[in-house]
Amino acid sequence: MDETEIIRRFFARGSQREDVTLAIGDDAAAVRVPERHELVSAMDTLVADVHFPAAMAAHEIGHRTLAVNLSDFAAMAAQPAWALLSLSLPQADESWLQSFSDGFFELADEYDVALIGGDLVSGPLAATVTLLGHAPQGSLIRRSGARAGDALYVTGRPGAALASDYLRRPEPRVVEGLSLRGVASAMIDISDGLLTDTRRLAESSGVCITLDAGALAEVVEGDLLAAICGGDDYELLFTAPEGQTAAVTGIGADRGCGVRRIGQVGEGQGVVLPGHDPDRLAGYDHFSKT
Ligand code: ADP
Ligand code: MG
Repeated sequence: MDETEIIRRFFARGSQREDVTLAIGDDAAAVRVPERHELVSAMDTLVADVHFPAAMAAHEIGHRTLAVNLSDFAAMAAQPAWALLSLSLPQADESWLQSFSDGFFELADEYDVALIGGDLVSGPLAATVTLLGHAPQGSLIRRSGARAGDALYVTGRPGAALASDYLRRPEPRVVEGLSLRGVASAMIDISDGLLTDTRRLAESSGVCITLDAGALAEVVEGDLLAAICGGDDYELLFTAPEGQTAAVTGIGADRGCGVRRIGQVGEGQGVVLPGHDPDRLAGYDHFSKT
């Protein structure tokens, strides 16, 4: 199989969106962005034996490589639409490519994401996806919008990735993220662990976030500290003013994953977990990353 055949057989397939004006096959691709919208982009690279075991099922690698980017889009309330895929492969194995491509396109088709181009190189196993999409001008939910008085929420069950199986297929919260447009004041996905990402959100917003240990204990899967320090969850962490409580509860009820209130935003800085020494918490958090 030469490069052209690999692209034709395994990558020139899946969703064909009508806003793709030039697809795979030319030197570059082109798309049409809706009027009064911003072009949104995100990129993530997964390297074998760094971000996933090289022996991981190709289907799961294909899924994960797009899922991590979709999760970033979810956290902005952005609409995903188009993707570019750069693949570095030690060898062109047909069944591996078929399985990778199936995993990629099952998720891409679920969210109507069209693969519009990419690159193929020979080298150590690694995959980079650039996800493109759009959002109405000024509508993106940033990390910096949390204000004192807002409540803090999380989707799903943080710690599930760690407790069940780190290799499971993460389901990005794209629909939840989009439905939080105009509702959430700040948002982030917790792929680096709930505690680390809560710190990032607090720092970006210039606020202090107090976590509710009781509420967290009911939400997380497995041991509390391990769950909030462990990574690989593709859940959304967000804040919303009290006036949006009913809207947030409604979104939680609509979606199977659930949305739970786990803290409070106040004046100051940093993250507080009552009953836990902040220095030891920071130490634990850092330790879990090494
Ligand atoms: P060039 O040498 O001009 O960069 P390539 O042979 O790399 O062209 O790519 C040919 C076409 O196939 C381009 O449209 C490119 O975007 C697309 N393509 C290459 N690799 C991939 C891939 N892994 N997935 C999707 N499209 C790809
Ligand atoms: Mg190329």
